[in-house]
Amino acid sequence: MTDAAGSEPLASGFAWPAGTRAAACFTFDVDAESAILAIDPASAGRRSVMSHQAYGPRTGVPRLLRVLDRTAIKGTFFVPGYTAERWPGVIRSIRDAGHEIAHHGYLHESAAALSPEAEERVLVRGLAALDAAAGVRPSGWRAPMWEASWSSAGLLHRHGFRYDSSLMDTDRPYQLGAGNGTSLVELPIHWSLDDWEPYVYLPDLSGSGAIASPVDVVARWALELDELVAEGGLFVLTNHPFASGRASRAAGLEALIRRAQAIDGLWIATCDEVARWVETLPIEPVADERPVLSLD
Ligand SMILES: [Zn+2]
Repeated sequence: MTDAAGSEPLASGFAWPAGTRAAACFTFDVDAESAILAIDPASAGRRSVMSHQAYGPRTGVPRLLRVLDRTAIKGTFFVPGYTAERWPGVIRSIRDAGHEIAHHGYLHESAAALSPEAEERVLVRGLAALDAAAGVRPSGWRAPMWEASWSSAGLLHRHGFRYDSSLMDTDRPYQLGAGNGTSLVELPIHWSLDDWEPYVYLPDLSGSGAIASPVDVVARWALELDELVAEGGLFVLTNHPFASGRASRAAGLEALIRRAQAIDGLWIATCDEVARWVETLPIEPVADERPVLSLD
């Protein structure tokens, strides 16, 4: 038991737009080389490893754009600044297809490992890279590795962001306190709705080599989709083009999108669209503070 933090269940006042009962966002983290270089800069010398990551922008993104075009939905693409610098034409192709581009660090840094000053430098560098590559000013941020810091919300608010998509404490949107009475929208995520864990294997870097079948993975995601719809929640699926851009996995994703489209009252939207809706609701921000331990 503790009475120290003052954290509470979510405040009431949340509702989906008239005629809808739940929402789904199909999101794509275009990590490419950045996520691996952040883990081990020496992996730049491993050409096969770099090519595994290049599969994302070179092959996965074009294939996934075709999936989104065939199903006529808009996705949200979280792009590290380094990816934008290395693959500017690919980022422009995402923009030109009408999808949302959002911020995902510069070199896929864990914000929790940075000082507040360093975190701000990374945020600004990422913004500059997205602007230079595609003239985009993102409204949303997703912490690389889903490692936000206790400074992230305030930093995002100061730089004019509308939403964050990095936290895991519930399964519908809320207002996240950003200090001094301010807030921004939180669109929660979870590892079980991420394709990295079941699909990715890079020797010495990530995964066990036990690569899951898209049949099983999509079935698991569909279970969560159905239950979140029943609960009136937000389904945020996170796919990486280097992983889910592969042929049978992209086909599985397309089947899941079509299944979602057949659900009555499910709003399929970009993260920015959902955040804009949440901004209209009269809900009190969540104002959790960093846990304080007293070990004596
Ligand atoms: Zn990422």
